[in-house]
Amino acid sequence: QEDVLKRVVAHAKEYGFVFPSSEVYDGLSAIYDYGQNGAELKNNIKQYWWKSMVQLNENIVGIDSAIFMHPTIWKASGHVDAFNDPLIDNKDSKKRFRADVLVEDFAEKFEDKAKKEIEKAKKRFGEAFDLEKFETTDAKVLEYRKKKADILKKLAKSLETNLADTKALIEELGISDPETGSKNWTEVRQFNLMFGTKLGSTTDSATDLYLRPETAQGIFVNYLNVQKTGRKKLPFGIAQIGKAFRNEIVARQFIFRMREFEQMEMQFFVPPGTELSHFEEWKEKRLNWHLALGLGKDNYRFHDHEKLAHYANAATDIEFKFPFGFKELEGIHSRTNFDLSAHEKYSGKKLQYFDPEQNKSYVPYVVETSIGLDRMFLALLSNCLKDEELEDGTSRVVLSLPPALAPIKVAIFPLIKKDGLPEYAEKIFNDLKYDFNVMYEDKDAIGKRYRRQDAIGTPFCVTVDHDTLSNHTVTIRDRDTMKQERVSVDSLNKIINDKVNF
Ligand code: ATP
Repeated sequence: QEDVLKRVVAHAKEYGFVFPSSEVYDGLSAIYDYGQNGAELKNNIKQYWWKSMVQLNENIVGIDSAIFMHPTIWKASGHVDAFNDPLIDNKDSKKRFRADVLVEDFAEKFEDKAKKEIEKAKKRFGEAFDLEKFETTDAKVLEYRKKKADILKKLAKSLETNLADTKALIEELGISDPETGSKNWTEVRQFNLMFGTKLGSTTDSATDLYLRPETAQGIFVNYLNVQKTGRKKLPFGIAQIGKAFRNEIVARQFIFRMREFEQMEMQFFVPPGTELSHFEEWKEKRLNWHLALGLGKDNYRFHDHEKLAHYANAATDIEFKFPFGFKELEGIHSRTNFDLSAHEKYSGKKLQYFDPEQNKSYVPYVVETSIGLDRMFLALLSNCLKDEELEDGTSRVVLSLPPALAPIKVAIFPLIKKDGLPEYAEKIFNDLKYDFNVMYEDKDAIGKRYRRQDAIGTPFCVTVDHDTLSNHTVTIRDRDTMKQERVSVDSLNKIINDKVNF
Protein backbone atom coordinates (compact mmCIF):
# COMPACT_ATOMS: atom_id res chain seq x y z
CA GLN A 1 0.00 0.00 0.00
CA GLU A 2 2.85 2.34 0.84
CA ASP A 3 4.14 1.49 -2.63
CA VAL A 4 0.94 2.72 -4.23
CA LEU A 5 1.37 6.05 -2.48
CA LYS A 6 5.02 6.25 -3.57
CA ARG A 7 3.92 5.58 -7.12
CA VAL A 8 1.34 8.38 -6.92
CA VAL A 9 3.91 10.82 -5.50
CA ALA A 10 6.40 9.98 -8.24
CA HIS A 11 3.79 10.22 -10.99
CA ALA A 12 2.50 13.53 -9.61
CA LYS A 13 5.98 14.95 -9.84
CA GLU A 14 7.01 13.47 -13.17
CA TYR A 15 3.88 14.74 -14.92
CA GLY A 16 3.67 18.24 -13.45
CA PHE A 17 0.88 17.73 -10.92
CA VAL A 18 2.58 18.24 -7.54
CA PHE A 19 6.12 19.36 -6.66
CA PRO A 20 7.68 19.55 -3.20
CA SER A 21 7.65 23.24 -2.29
CA SER A 22 10.96 25.17 -2.45
CA GLU A 23 12.55 22.08 -3.95
CA VAL A 24 15.80 23.79 -4.94
CA TYR A 25 16.30 24.46 -1.24
CA ASP A 26 15.49 20.82 -0.41
CA GLY A 27 11.82 21.44 0.24
CA LEU A 28 9.72 22.43 3.20
CA SER A 29 8.02 19.74 5.23
CA ALA A 30 4.35 19.11 4.41
CA ILE A 31 4.18 22.03 1.98
CA TYR A 32 3.64 21.36 -1.72
CA ASP A 33 3.31 23.31 -4.96
CA TYR A 34 0.92 22.42 -7.74
CA GLY A 35 2.42 22.28 -11.22
CA GLN A 36 0.97 22.96 -14.65
CA ASN A 37 -1.37 19.97 -14.66
CA GLY A 38 -2.05 20.05 -10.94
CA ALA A 39 -3.25 23.65 -11.05
CA GLU A 40 -5.71 22.75 -13.83
CA LEU A 41 -7.01 19.69 -12.00
CA LYS A 42 -7.38 21.68 -8.80
CA ASN A 43 -9.28 24.45 -10.59
CA ASN A 44 -11.59 21.91 -12.19
CA ILE A 45 -12.37 20.30 -8.82
CA LYS A 46 -13.12 23.75 -7.43
CA GLN A 47 -15.43 24.49 -10.34
CA TYR A 48 -17.23 21.18 -9.99
CA TRP A 49 -17.83 21.94 -6.31
CA TRP A 50 -18.72 25.62 -6.81
CA LYS A 51 -21.16 24.85 -9.60
CA SER A 52 -22.92 22.15 -7.63
CA MET A 53 -23.17 24.39 -4.56
CA VAL A 54 -23.64 27.94 -5.78
CA GLN A 55 -24.94 27.64 -9.31
CA LEU A 56 -27.32 24.72 -8.82
CA ASN A 57 -28.77 25.82 -5.49
CA GLU A 58 -30.89 28.91 -5.70
CA ASN A 59 -30.47 29.50 -1.94
CA ILE A 60 -26.66 29.21 -1.75
CA VAL A 61 -24.24 32.04 -2.57
CA GLY A 62 -20.46 32.20 -2.47
CA ILE A 63 -18.05 34.60 -0.81
CA ASP A 64 -14.29 35.10 -0.57
CA SER A 65 -13.28 36.32 2.88
CA ALA A 66 -9.78 37.34 3.98
CA ILE A 67 -7.24 34.93 5.48
CA PHE A 68 -6.40 37.43 8.22
CA MET A 69 -9.22 38.02 10.65
CA HIS A 70 -9.70 39.88 13.91
CA PRO A 71 -7.86 37.84 16.55
CA THR A 72 -10.87 37.74 18.90
CA ILE A 73 -12.66 35.61 16.30
CA TRP A 74 -10.37 32.71 17.19
CA LYS A 75 -10.98 33.25 20.87
CA ALA A 76 -14.75 33.13 20.30
CA SER A 77 -14.57 30.09 18.05
CA GLY A 78 -12.65 28.15 20.68
CA HIS A 79 -9.52 27.78 18.54
CA VAL A 80 -7.21 29.72 20.88
CA ASP A 81 -8.08 27.53 23.84
CA ALA A 82 -9.00 24.21 22.29
CA PHE A 83 -7.48 23.76 18.82
CA ASN A 84 -4.68 21.63 20.20
CA ASP A 85 -3.00 18.32 19.61
CA PRO A 86 -1.15 16.43 22.37
CA LEU A 87 2.57 16.66 21.72
CA ILE A 88 5.42 14.50 23.00
CA ASP A 89 9.15 14.71 22.29
CA ASN A 90 11.71 11.97 22.44
CA LYS A 91 14.59 13.28 24.53
CA ASP A 92 17.26 11.21 22.73
CA SER A 93 16.25 11.52 19.10
CA LYS A 94 14.80 15.05 19.60
CA LYS A 95 11.96 13.93 17.33
CA ARG A 96 8.48 15.29 17.91
CA PHE A 97 5.34 13.15 17.83
CA ARG A 98 1.63 13.44 18.33
CA ALA A 99 1.09 11.44 21.49
CA ASP A 100 -2.35 10.20 20.42
CA VAL A 101 -1.05 9.04 17.03
CA LEU A 102 1.81 7.12 18.69
CA VAL A 103 -0.69 5.22 20.83
CA GLU A 104 -3.15 4.75 17.96
CA ASP A 105 -0.43 3.31 15.73
CA PHE A 106 0.57 0.98 18.52
CA ALA A 107 -3.03 -0.17 19.03
CA GLU A 108 -3.40 -0.68 15.28
CA LYS A 109 -0.73 -3.40 15.47
CA PHE A 110 -3.23 -5.61 17.30
CA GLU A 111 -5.56 -5.28 14.34
CA ASP A 112 -2.72 -6.50 12.11
CA LYS A 113 -2.22 -9.45 14.44
CA ALA A 114 -5.94 -10.27 14.27
CA LYS A 115 -5.74 -10.15 10.48
CA LYS A 116 -2.78 -12.53 10.49
CA GLU A 117 -4.78 -15.03 12.56
CA ILE A 118 -7.58 -14.82 10.00
CA GLU A 119 -5.11 -15.37 7.15
CA LYS A 120 -3.69 -18.42 8.94
CA ALA A 121 -7.15 -19.88 9.39
CA LYS A 122 -7.96 -19.28 5.74
CA LYS A 123 -4.94 -21.35 4.77
CA ARG A 124 -5.88 -24.10 7.24
CA PHE A 125 -9.53 -24.40 6.25
CA GLY A 126 -9.29 -23.49 2.60
CA GLU A 127 -12.53 -23.29 0.61
CA ALA A 128 -14.86 -24.03 3.51
CA PHE A 129 -13.60 -21.06 5.49
CA ASP A 130 -16.35 -18.86 6.87
CA LEU A 131 -14.80 -15.50 7.72
CA GLU A 132 -17.69 -14.09 9.69
CA LYS A 133 -18.03 -17.08 11.96
CA PHE A 134 -14.29 -17.17 12.50
CA GLU A 135 -14.03 -13.53 13.41
CA THR A 136 -16.68 -13.82 16.08
CA THR A 137 -15.49 -17.05 17.66
CA ASP A 138 -11.74 -17.24 17.38
CA ALA A 139 -10.25 -16.48 20.78
CA LYS A 140 -7.05 -14.91 19.50
CA VAL A 141 -8.79 -12.59 17.09
CA LEU A 142 -11.15 -11.49 19.85
CA GLU A 143 -8.29 -11.00 22.28
CA TYR A 144 -6.32 -8.81 19.87
CA ARG A 145 -9.37 -6.74 19.06
CA LYS A 146 -10.14 -6.30 22.76
CA LYS A 147 -6.57 -5.17 23.46
CA LYS A 148 -6.82 -2.58 20.72
CA ALA A 149 -10.19 -1.33 22.00
CA ASP A 150 -8.95 -1.14 25.59
CA ILE A 151 -5.93 0.93 24.61
CA LEU A 152 -8.01 3.33 22.53
CA LYS A 153 -10.50 3.71 25.37
CA LYS A 154 -7.75 4.53 27.86
CA LEU A 155 -6.25 6.97 25.39
CA ALA A 156 -9.54 8.80 24.84
CA LYS A 157 -10.11 9.10 28.57
CA SER A 158 -6.61 10.39 29.27
CA LEU A 159 -6.85 12.99 26.47
CA GLU A 160 -10.06 14.26 27.98
CA THR A 161 -8.98 14.39 31.57
CA ASN A 162 -5.26 14.29 32.15
CA LEU A 163 -2.37 14.34 29.70
CA ALA A 164 -0.07 12.82 32.36
CA ASP A 165 -2.16 9.66 31.95
CA THR A 166 -1.37 9.66 28.21
CA LYS A 167 2.33 9.74 29.06
CA ALA A 168 1.80 6.93 31.60
CA LEU A 169 -0.02 4.89 28.94
CA ILE A 170 2.87 5.34 26.48
CA GLU A 171 5.27 4.09 29.16
CA GLU A 172 3.03 1.24 30.25
CA LEU A 173 2.76 0.01 26.66
CA GLY A 174 6.51 0.37 26.18
CA ILE A 175 6.11 2.47 23.05
CA SER A 176 9.41 3.58 21.56
CA ASP A 177 10.55 6.03 18.90
CA PRO A 178 9.87 3.94 15.75
CA GLU A 179 13.22 4.89 14.20
CA THR A 180 15.66 4.85 17.10
CA GLY A 181 13.88 2.58 19.60
CA SER A 182 14.41 5.09 22.40
CA LYS A 183 11.79 5.19 25.16
CA ASN A 184 13.04 8.39 26.75
CA TRP A 185 9.94 10.62 26.51
CA THR A 186 9.13 14.13 27.70
CA GLU A 187 5.79 14.99 29.29
CA VAL A 188 2.79 15.26 27.00
CA ARG A 189 1.64 18.83 26.47
CA GLN A 190 -0.92 20.68 24.40
CA PHE A 191 0.25 22.15 21.15
CA ASN A 192 -1.88 24.79 19.43
CA LEU A 193 -2.15 24.20 15.68
CA MET A 194 -2.64 27.82 14.67
CA PHE A 195 0.18 29.73 12.99
CA GLY A 196 0.74 33.12 14.55
CA THR A 197 1.97 36.28 12.87
CA LYS A 198 1.96 40.01 13.52
CA LEU A 199 0.08 42.95 12.05
CA GLY A 200 1.75 46.38 12.20
CA SER A 201 5.23 47.68 11.56
CA THR A 202 6.56 48.46 15.03
CA THR A 203 6.92 45.85 17.71
CA ASP A 204 5.08 47.97 20.32
CA SER A 205 1.99 48.49 18.25
CA ALA A 206 1.91 45.10 16.56
CA THR A 207 -1.19 42.96 17.00
CA ASP A 208 -0.96 39.21 17.20
CA LEU A 209 -2.80 37.59 14.34
CA TYR A 210 -3.39 34.02 13.21
CA LEU A 211 -3.44 32.49 9.79
CA ARG A 212 -6.97 31.04 9.64
CA PRO A 213 -7.09 27.31 10.44
CA GLU A 214 -10.48 26.96 8.70
CA THR A 215 -12.45 29.07 6.27
CA ALA A 216 -15.76 28.67 8.16
CA GLN A 217 -15.30 31.61 10.54
CA GLY A 218 -15.10 34.03 7.60
CA ILE A 219 -18.58 32.86 6.66
CA PHE A 220 -19.99 33.14 10.19
CA VAL A 221 -18.88 36.72 10.71
CA ASN A 222 -20.28 37.70 7.30
CA TYR A 223 -23.59 35.87 7.46
CA LEU A 224 -25.66 38.94 8.30
CA ASN A 225 -23.94 41.01 5.59
CA VAL A 226 -24.90 38.40 3.04
CA GLN A 227 -28.37 37.83 4.47
CA LYS A 228 -29.21 41.52 4.42
CA THR A 229 -27.58 42.56 1.13
CA GLY A 230 -28.77 39.39 -0.63
CA ARG A 231 -32.20 39.59 1.07
CA LYS A 232 -31.92 35.92 1.98
CA LYS A 233 -34.52 33.94 3.85
CA LEU A 234 -33.68 30.94 5.99
CA PRO A 235 -32.71 28.30 5.08
CA PHE A 236 -29.84 29.60 2.96
CA GLY A 237 -26.18 28.74 2.54
CA ILE A 238 -22.85 30.51 2.06
CA ALA A 239 -20.01 28.72 0.28
CA GLN A 240 -16.34 29.54 0.22
CA ILE A 241 -13.13 28.08 -1.18
CA GLY A 242 -9.85 29.17 0.32
CA LYS A 243 -6.59 28.47 2.04
CA ALA A 244 -6.32 27.29 5.62
CA PHE A 245 -3.21 26.76 7.71
CA ARG A 246 -2.46 24.28 10.48
CA ASN A 247 0.85 23.61 12.15
CA GLU A 248 0.32 19.84 12.00
CA ILE A 249 2.70 17.91 14.24
CA VAL A 250 2.71 14.74 12.19
CA ALA A 251 2.88 15.73 8.57
CA ARG A 252 2.95 12.71 6.33
CA GLN A 253 1.02 10.95 3.59
CA PHE A 254 1.82 13.50 0.92
CA ILE A 255 -0.93 16.07 0.32
CA PHE A 256 -3.33 14.28 2.70
CA ARG A 257 -2.07 16.28 5.67
CA MET A 258 -0.45 19.59 4.80
CA ARG A 259 0.43 22.69 6.77
CA GLU A 260 -1.00 24.95 4.07
CA PHE A 261 -4.05 23.56 2.31
CA GLU A 262 -7.35 24.52 0.76
CA GLN A 263 -10.86 23.93 2.00
CA MET A 264 -14.22 24.07 0.26
CA GLU A 265 -16.78 24.81 2.93
CA MET A 266 -20.48 25.57 2.95
CA GLN A 267 -22.41 26.81 5.97
CA PHE A 268 -26.16 26.28 5.77
CA PHE A 269 -28.18 28.53 8.09
CA VAL A 270 -31.45 27.01 9.29
CA PRO A 271 -34.18 27.67 11.87
CA PRO A 272 -33.46 26.02 15.24
CA GLY A 273 -35.03 22.60 15.52
CA THR A 274 -34.72 21.82 11.79
CA GLU A 275 -30.96 21.22 11.80
CA LEU A 276 -31.00 17.46 12.07
CA SER A 277 -33.19 16.95 9.02
CA HIS A 278 -30.93 19.33 7.05
CA PHE A 279 -27.93 17.40 8.35
CA GLU A 280 -29.39 14.15 6.92
CA GLU A 281 -30.18 15.90 3.65
CA TRP A 282 -26.62 17.24 3.27
CA LYS A 283 -25.12 13.86 4.10
CA GLU A 284 -26.99 12.38 1.18
CA LYS A 285 -26.34 15.28 -1.18
CA ARG A 286 -22.62 15.28 -0.49
CA LEU A 287 -22.26 11.53 -0.94
CA ASN A 288 -24.08 11.78 -4.26
CA TRP A 289 -21.72 14.54 -5.37
CA HIS A 290 -18.82 12.15 -4.81
CA LEU A 291 -20.55 9.17 -6.41
CA ALA A 292 -21.32 11.16 -9.56
CA LEU A 293 -17.60 11.21 -10.30
CA GLY A 294 -17.66 7.46 -10.81
CA LEU A 295 -14.67 6.45 -8.69
CA GLY A 296 -16.66 3.51 -7.32
CA LYS A 297 -19.25 3.27 -4.58
CA ASP A 298 -17.16 0.89 -2.48
CA ASN A 299 -14.47 3.53 -2.03
CA TYR A 300 -16.69 5.68 0.21
CA ARG A 301 -18.19 5.18 3.61
CA PHE A 302 -19.75 7.29 6.35
CA HIS A 303 -18.11 7.42 9.73
CA ASP A 304 -20.56 8.85 12.24
CA HIS A 305 -18.93 10.49 15.25
CA GLU A 306 -19.90 9.10 18.61
CA LYS A 307 -17.86 11.65 20.49
CA LEU A 308 -18.90 15.10 19.33
CA ALA A 309 -16.90 18.32 19.31
CA HIS A 310 -18.07 20.93 21.79
CA TYR A 311 -19.95 22.81 19.08
CA ALA A 312 -21.79 19.94 17.38
CA ASN A 313 -24.95 17.92 17.94
CA ALA A 314 -24.34 15.56 15.02
CA ALA A 315 -21.28 14.88 12.88
CA THR A 316 -20.15 12.45 10.24
CA ASP A 317 -17.17 12.02 7.96
CA ILE A 318 -17.25 10.84 4.39
CA GLU A 319 -14.24 8.56 4.30
CA PHE A 320 -12.44 7.58 1.13
CA LYS A 321 -10.30 4.54 0.50
CA PHE A 322 -6.88 6.16 0.12
CA PRO A 323 -3.78 3.99 -0.56
CA PHE A 324 -3.24 3.96 3.23
CA GLY A 325 -6.82 2.94 4.07
CA PHE A 326 -10.18 4.61 4.67
CA LYS A 327 -9.59 8.17 5.89
CA GLU A 328 -11.60 11.36 6.25
CA LEU A 329 -12.18 13.23 3.03
CA GLU A 330 -15.07 15.45 4.05
CA GLY A 331 -16.79 16.40 7.29
CA ILE A 332 -20.49 17.16 7.69
CA HIS A 333 -21.35 18.79 11.00
CA SER A 334 -24.44 20.10 12.68
CA ARG A 335 -22.76 22.99 14.53
CA THR A 336 -25.86 24.27 16.37
CA ASN A 337 -25.78 28.01 17.08
CA PHE A 338 -22.42 27.66 18.82
CA ASP A 339 -20.33 29.89 16.55
CA LEU A 340 -22.87 32.66 15.96
CA SER A 341 -23.77 32.85 19.65
CA ALA A 342 -20.10 33.02 20.60
CA HIS A 343 -19.52 35.87 18.11
CA GLU A 344 -22.52 37.70 19.58
CA LYS A 345 -21.03 37.34 23.01
CA TYR A 346 -17.48 38.37 22.12
CA SER A 347 -18.35 41.19 19.71
CA GLY A 348 -21.29 42.58 21.64
CA LYS A 349 -23.22 42.83 18.33
CA LYS A 350 -26.55 41.16 17.64
CA LEU A 351 -26.29 38.41 15.05
CA GLN A 352 -29.96 37.50 15.05
CA TYR A 353 -32.13 36.80 12.07
CA PHE A 354 -35.68 38.11 11.93
CA ASP A 355 -37.93 35.32 10.74
CA PRO A 356 -40.95 36.93 9.05
CA GLU A 357 -42.93 33.68 9.13
CA GLN A 358 -42.50 33.10 12.84
CA ASN A 359 -42.48 36.84 13.50
CA LYS A 360 -39.50 36.61 15.86
CA SER A 361 -35.73 36.93 15.94
CA TYR A 362 -33.27 34.19 16.73
CA VAL A 363 -29.69 33.02 16.12
CA PRO A 364 -29.80 30.48 13.26
CA TYR A 365 -28.45 26.96 13.56
CA VAL A 366 -25.79 25.82 11.13
CA VAL A 367 -25.13 22.65 9.18
CA GLU A 368 -21.75 22.66 7.45
CA THR A 369 -20.07 20.59 4.80
CA SER A 370 -16.30 20.86 4.72
CA ILE A 371 -14.04 19.14 2.23
CA GLY A 372 -10.29 19.39 1.76
CA LEU A 373 -9.49 20.28 -1.84
CA ASP A 374 -6.05 18.67 -1.62
CA ARG A 375 -7.49 15.47 -0.17
CA MET A 376 -10.00 15.38 -3.02
CA PHE A 377 -7.08 15.81 -5.42
CA LEU A 378 -5.25 12.89 -3.78
CA ALA A 379 -8.40 10.74 -3.86
CA LEU A 380 -8.67 11.31 -7.62
CA LEU A 381 -5.02 10.80 -8.37
CA SER A 382 -4.63 7.62 -6.32
CA ASN A 383 -7.87 6.11 -7.59
CA CYS A 384 -7.39 6.95 -11.26
CA LEU A 385 -3.73 6.03 -11.74
CA LYS A 386 -3.64 2.62 -13.40
CA ASP A 387 -1.20 0.27 -15.06
CA GLU A 388 -3.00 -1.46 -17.91
CA GLU A 389 -1.94 -4.60 -19.67
CA LEU A 390 -2.90 -4.31 -23.32
CA GLU A 391 -3.98 -7.02 -25.75
CA ASP A 392 -0.80 -6.77 -27.78
CA GLY A 393 1.27 -7.65 -24.70
CA THR A 394 2.48 -4.12 -24.02
CA SER A 395 1.32 -2.00 -21.12
CA ARG A 396 0.44 1.62 -20.53
CA VAL A 397 0.02 4.01 -17.62
CA VAL A 398 -3.31 5.79 -17.72
CA LEU A 399 -4.84 8.40 -15.45
CA SER A 400 -8.53 7.77 -15.93
CA LEU A 401 -9.75 11.03 -14.44
CA PRO A 402 -13.42 11.94 -14.89
CA PRO A 403 -13.24 13.85 -18.24
CA ALA A 404 -14.81 16.97 -16.72
CA LEU A 405 -11.88 17.24 -14.29
CA ALA A 406 -9.04 16.34 -16.68
CA PRO A 407 -6.40 19.12 -16.88
CA ILE A 408 -6.31 19.02 -20.67
CA LYS A 409 -9.41 18.06 -22.61
CA VAL A 410 -7.90 17.46 -26.03
CA ALA A 411 -4.44 17.23 -27.54
CA ILE A 412 -3.94 18.12 -31.22
CA PHE A 413 -1.18 16.33 -33.13
CA PRO A 414 -0.01 16.88 -36.69
CA LEU A 415 1.06 13.42 -37.89
CA ILE A 416 4.31 14.83 -39.25
CA LYS A 417 5.95 18.23 -39.11
CA LYS A 418 5.54 19.13 -42.80
CA ASP A 419 3.20 19.25 -45.81
CA GLY A 420 1.01 21.86 -44.12
CA LEU A 421 -0.15 19.48 -41.37
CA PRO A 422 1.16 21.65 -38.47
CA GLU A 423 -0.64 24.68 -39.90
CA TYR A 424 -3.92 22.76 -40.13
CA ALA A 425 -3.45 21.41 -36.58
CA GLU A 426 -2.79 24.90 -35.30
CA LYS A 427 -5.99 26.11 -36.90
CA ILE A 428 -7.95 23.41 -35.04
CA PHE A 429 -6.12 24.36 -31.84
CA ASN A 430 -7.14 27.98 -32.29
CA ASP A 431 -10.77 27.05 -32.98
CA LEU A 432 -11.10 24.88 -29.89
CA LYS A 433 -9.06 26.87 -27.38
CA TYR A 434 -11.92 29.24 -26.49
CA ASP A 435 -14.02 26.34 -25.23
CA PHE A 436 -11.49 23.85 -23.85
CA ASN A 437 -8.02 23.60 -22.43
CA VAL A 438 -6.24 22.29 -25.54
CA MET A 439 -2.64 21.19 -26.03
CA TYR A 440 -0.70 21.22 -29.28
CA GLU A 441 2.11 18.73 -29.64
CA ASP A 442 4.30 17.77 -32.60
CA LYS A 443 7.32 16.08 -31.00
CA ASP A 444 8.00 12.30 -31.04
CA ALA A 445 6.10 9.48 -32.68
CA ILE A 446 2.31 9.45 -32.38
CA GLY A 447 2.33 6.41 -30.07
CA LYS A 448 4.58 8.21 -27.62
CA ARG A 449 2.42 11.31 -27.75
CA TYR A 450 -0.67 9.21 -26.96
CA ARG A 451 1.09 7.68 -23.93
CA ARG A 452 2.04 11.09 -22.54
CA GLN A 453 -1.57 12.26 -22.77
CA ASP A 454 -2.80 9.01 -21.16
CA ALA A 455 -0.50 9.66 -18.23
CA ILE A 456 -2.00 13.08 -17.55
CA GLY A 457 -5.56 11.94 -18.19
CA THR A 458 -6.41 13.76 -21.45
CA PRO A 459 -9.73 12.28 -22.67
CA PHE A 460 -9.13 12.95 -26.40
CA CYS A 461 -6.26 13.09 -28.88
CA VAL A 462 -6.91 14.45 -32.38
CA THR A 463 -4.49 13.65 -35.20
CA VAL A 464 -4.22 15.67 -38.39
CA ASP A 465 -2.95 13.60 -41.35
CA HIS A 466 -2.77 13.96 -45.14
CA ASP A 467 -6.42 13.00 -45.62
CA THR A 468 -7.36 15.93 -43.41
CA LEU A 469 -6.09 18.34 -46.04
CA SER A 470 -8.39 16.95 -48.73
CA ASN A 471 -11.56 15.95 -46.86
CA HIS A 472 -11.39 17.93 -43.58
CA THR A 473 -11.62 14.87 -41.33
CA VAL A 474 -9.33 13.88 -38.46
CA THR A 475 -8.92 10.85 -36.23
CA ILE A 476 -10.06 11.26 -32.65
CA ARG A 477 -8.76 8.79 -30.09
CA ASP A 478 -10.56 8.00 -26.86
CA ARG A 479 -8.31 7.71 -23.77
CA ASP A 480 -10.26 4.84 -22.20
CA THR A 481 -11.09 2.62 -25.18
CA MET A 482 -7.98 3.67 -27.14
CA LYS A 483 -10.20 3.43 -30.22
CA GLN A 484 -9.72 5.87 -33.07
CA GLU A 485 -12.56 7.20 -35.10
CA ARG A 486 -12.54 9.33 -38.22
CA VAL A 487 -14.74 12.39 -37.82
CA SER A 488 -15.23 15.71 -39.56
CA VAL A 489 -13.31 18.66 -38.16
CA ASP A 490 -16.60 20.54 -37.76
CA SER A 491 -17.97 17.93 -35.35
CA LEU A 492 -15.02 18.08 -32.91
CA ASN A 493 -16.40 20.75 -30.65
CA LYS A 494 -19.64 18.88 -30.04
CA ILE A 495 -17.97 15.48 -29.54
CA ILE A 496 -15.59 16.90 -26.94
CA ASN A 497 -18.22 19.01 -25.26
CA ASP A 498 -20.59 16.06 -24.82
CA LYS A 499 -17.92 14.18 -22.91
CA VAL A 500 -16.22 16.82 -20.80
CA ASN A 501 -19.18 18.84 -19.57
CA PHE A 502 -20.01 18.60 -15.86
P1 ATP B 1 -8.15 15.23 10.51
O1 ATP B 1 -8.91 14.53 11.60
O2 ATP B 1 -7.80 14.35 9.34
O3 ATP B 1 -7.02 16.07 11.00
P2 ATP B 1 -10.05 17.28 10.83
O4 ATP B 1 -11.18 16.51 11.42
O5 ATP B 1 -9.18 18.10 11.69
O6 ATP B 1 -9.16 16.30 9.92
P3 ATP B 1 -11.70 19.34 9.77
O7 ATP B 1 -11.25 20.33 10.77
O8 ATP B 1 -13.08 18.76 9.89
O9 ATP B 1 -10.62 18.18 9.66
O10 ATP B 1 -11.49 19.98 8.33
C1 ATP B 1 -12.34 19.71 7.23
C2 ATP B 1 -11.62 19.09 6.06
O11 ATP B 1 -10.41 19.80 5.77
C3 ATP B 1 -11.17 17.66 6.32
O12 ATP B 1 -12.19 16.76 6.02
C4 ATP B 1 -10.00 17.52 5.36
O13 ATP B 1 -10.45 17.13 4.07
C5 ATP B 1 -9.42 18.91 5.28
N1 ATP B 1 -8.20 19.01 6.08
C6 ATP B 1 -8.09 19.20 7.42
N2 ATP B 1 -6.80 19.26 7.80
C7 ATP B 1 -6.06 19.12 6.67
C8 ATP B 1 -4.66 19.12 6.41
N3 ATP B 1 -3.77 19.29 7.37
N4 ATP B 1 -4.24 18.95 5.13
C9 ATP B 1 -5.15 18.79 4.13
N5 ATP B 1 -6.46 18.80 4.33
C10 ATP B 1 -6.94 18.96 5.57
